[in-house]
Amino acid sequence: MKAESIRINSKRLSARIQEMAQFGALPSGGVKRLTLTPEDKAARDLFKQWMQELGLEVAIDEIGNTFGILKGKNTDRCIGIGSHLDSVPTGGRFDGPVGAIGALEVAQTLIENDVQLNSTLVVANYTNEEGVRFFPDMMGSLGHVNPEEVDNYLKAKDKNGTTVDDALKAIGYKGKMKCGTIHYNHFVEIHIEQGPILEEKKIDIGIVQGVQAIHWQKLTLIGKSAHAGTTPIYARKDAFYALSKLSCFARELCHDIKDQLVTIGTIEVKPNAINVVPEEVVATLDMRNLSDANLQLAITRIEDFIATDESFSHISVNKEVLVNVPAVAFNGSVVDAISKSCQHLGYSSLPMHSGAGHDAQILATRYPAAMIFIPSKDGVSHAVDEYSSPEQIEKGANVLLQTVLHLDQ
Ligand SMILES: [Zn+2]
Repeated sequence: MKAESIRINSKRLSARIQEMAQFGALPSGGVKRLTLTPEDKAARDLFKQWMQELGLEVAIDEIGNTFGILKGKNTDRCIGIGSHLDSVPTGGRFDGPVGAIGALEVAQTLIENDVQLNSTLVVANYTNEEGVRFFPDMMGSLGHVNPEEVDNYLKAKDKNGTTVDDALKAIGYKGKMKCGTIHYNHFVEIHIEQGPILEEKKIDIGIVQGVQAIHWQKLTLIGKSAHAGTTPIYARKDAFYALSKLSCFARELCHDIKDQLVTIGTIEVKPNAINVVPEEVVATLDMRNLSDANLQLAITRIEDFIATDESFSHISVNKEVLVNVPAVAFNGSVVDAISKSCQHLGYSSLPMHSGAGHDAQILATRYPAAMIFIPSKDGVSHAVDEYSSPEQIEKGANVLLQTVLHLDQ
């Protein structure tokens, strides 16, 4: 059989995704599988067992990234495919496992059809993508591309004071291989979209062109507490009033600047009493844009508003930048290979950007990479009712298979 006519086994793939969901299963149907916990160990063990049964050579690096290696005819060339198996505390069954188990399915399909690639194929499960237990998120892929930072990541502590290093040793996944030992010529990740666009437009596959830039800042606004009944409006230094005007301005900014998103996701008001003018407000701003320049423009416009609006005239403001990650553009030839694969398979596709962070975006800083999105029901993700159908997952995995064959040429 010609390699381009082979297809993945959808039944096996969906059964494995469901089997994986037993680890950390929540009564509501989702999963809680925080990184490097006993639940994560159980998931890793099963994934490793599947790779070994298939005859893949398993390698584990110092930060617990786990690789299943299928040697090609030309061992100097290497294609990486994979994702992650950890979840958020109220996670779904599909965010991560679709990419990791989908990658395994591609390797198994090649083996079963006696297709030997020119390139070595590496199936990867990256450690701590979600970043819930340990900061930073996408730690495993960051370690892969920045081996010099790995010692710092290993020292990161969870809220009980357990380090990544201790947690890795406790579950037996502190590997011997140095991070960054595996060099990809290409890396491809399948992932659920985690948004509503593909479902709304009834499109099979999202061809991800890049990931938007992200900027987080924490603002502390300090005014003066005062009696709600006796303090005239003109005499107030109301920190919450200033924040609420900023919130309205931020919404307008999203209409003014192309592709801009701003979210004020957390606020703390002090003293938080019904009859007291708020003295202090601590708020976080999450700002994203596909363009670094537009994001910078939005940041500057927010600064200008704070400097000039009357609501801030008696408020002092302290700004702390928490996160600043530039936009990532995925590699044109990998994007092209995904696009050709969709055409070959007769699947509808849409070029799009990712609103969320992924391992592929980190790996893209060192290796040519791109992503394949499949639809998410109602755009739901990081929630127990996250869902993609077996047919949608099948299409994603078939696109990955064909993309690997294209990249192997
Ligand atoms: Zn994910």
